[in-house]
Amino acid sequence: MADTPIIIDSEKCRGCKKCISACPFDALYMEGKLAVLKPEECRACNACVKACPFKAISANVKEEAKKESLSDFKGIWVFAEQHHGKVQEVAYELLSTGRRLAKDRGCELAAVVLGHNVTDSAAHLIAAGADKVYVVDQPELAEYEANVYTDALNQLIAKYKPEVILAGATAVGRAFFAKVAVRARTGLTADCTALSIDKESHLLHQTRPAFGGNIMATIMTPNHRPQMATVRPKVFKMTTPDPKRKGETLMEALKLVTAGTKIVKAERNAANVNIAEAEIIVAGGRGLKKAENLEQLKKLADLLGGVVGVSRACVDAGWISASHQVGQTGKTVCPKIYLAFGISGAIQHLEGMRGSDTIIAINNDPNASIFGIADLGIIGDLFEILPMLIEAVEAKRKN
Ligand SMILES: Cc1cc2nc3c(=O)[nH]c(=O)nc-3n(C[C@H](O)[C@H](O)[C@H](O)COP(=O)(O)OP(=O)(O)OC[C@H]3O[C@@H](n4cnc5c(N)ncnc54)[C@H](O)[C@@H]3O)c2cc1C
Repeated sequence: MADTPIIIDSEKCRGCKKCISACPFDALYMEGKLAVLKPEECRACNACVKACPFKAISANVKEEAKKESLSDFKGIWVFAEQHHGKVQEVAYELLSTGRRLAKDRGCELAAVVLGHNVTDSAAHLIAAGADKVYVVDQPELAEYEANVYTDALNQLIAKYKPEVILAGATAVGRAFFAKVAVRARTGLTADCTALSIDKESHLLHQTRPAFGGNIMATIMTPNHRPQMATVRPKVFKMTTPDPKRKGETLMEALKLVTAGTKIVKAERNAANVNIAEAEIIVAGGRGLKKAENLEQLKKLADLLGGVVGVSRACVDAGWISASHQVGQTGKTVCPKIYLAFGISGAIQHLEGMRGSDTIIAINNDPNASIFGIADLGIIGDLFEILPMLIEAVEAKRKN
């Protein structure tokens, strides 16, 4: 039997072209009066099988058998990234979403922790919603190393076959999750902003911005398992943990590959701020005109106990490091207050800060898009308003 995802019976094909119109991947063409498959384009969606009125197209049973083995994969996993034993907040955010997905799928939710001296974190993960926690607590995993982490997670996938795995789109998550997906021969959707389980197909709907944020694409992984997705920190909300929740901790001992890189010394770059965790962000854009004017922004941020965020225009101009950038190619933030000075509100910027509790925009253009999502808008010159705000906060501090 041919190794193509679908088989066309030339005896039955009448050349009606209905399969060609139905195929979303342009994987069929006409050769004379017969439909012919371009196997390299076919995604085995079976749209043509359903569309053919003469039953001339059928799914390849070999491929169907492969699909059946997909049902061996069960449960939803969250990769619980930790640094020096402290589980990152994004893992708890993913567990909250994971609980909803597990409920909709009617399955268990598990967390996976890789590291050294990390076993204590299992209790926190159970409190945050995990039914089970797989812990690999070994010295080789003390510091993140892509090859070793990839090997560990792939071994667990091969052993337990999870249906879905989610990870934070952090520096670590981005770096090794793609490697894991390649080795598991499955797909990965990065930077998802919404996740849901389709009630009929049970597929994970992985939604993310596409084409520069102008459309939202919903991506599915119908033919491979696990279904893998990353989500940036702060995109999902964390629910309150329940310390009384009961769960199971499974300790795994793995024989791991040797690290490809030797970490001699780890140093934190003091200039790198974590704006994703900030409660107050004082952000500026091209309207600031020059790098020196960021000093005023920093002054207000310090007075308010916040941090400086910027639009990509400021990073591209070389005014400040990329760790301050908010938006689609920067960080997703969710502060209590987001002050935007001289930021127009391009879709790529809004994508990173629309979840803020209160947005205050200062712009001299009354038609600036940022006013569309601002809770409070001030139409005016930022060079007048910023010093006035600094003065007002300083005066309040003195009183
Ligand atoms: C694939 C892709 C990814 C991107 N990712 C990001 C991203 O992650 N983050 C991001 O921010 N952008 C991103 N961008 C860029 C984005 O499209 C915009 O170009 C950028 O956000 C514009 O920055 P801005 O608002 O500072 O500048 P502008 O759009 O130039 O706006 C400057 C604003 O300042 C106002 N202004 C000027 N002078 C004053 C004044 N004296 N007082 C008050 N207001 C004043 C103006 O009215 C204007 O609204 C991306 C673009 C692409 C194509």
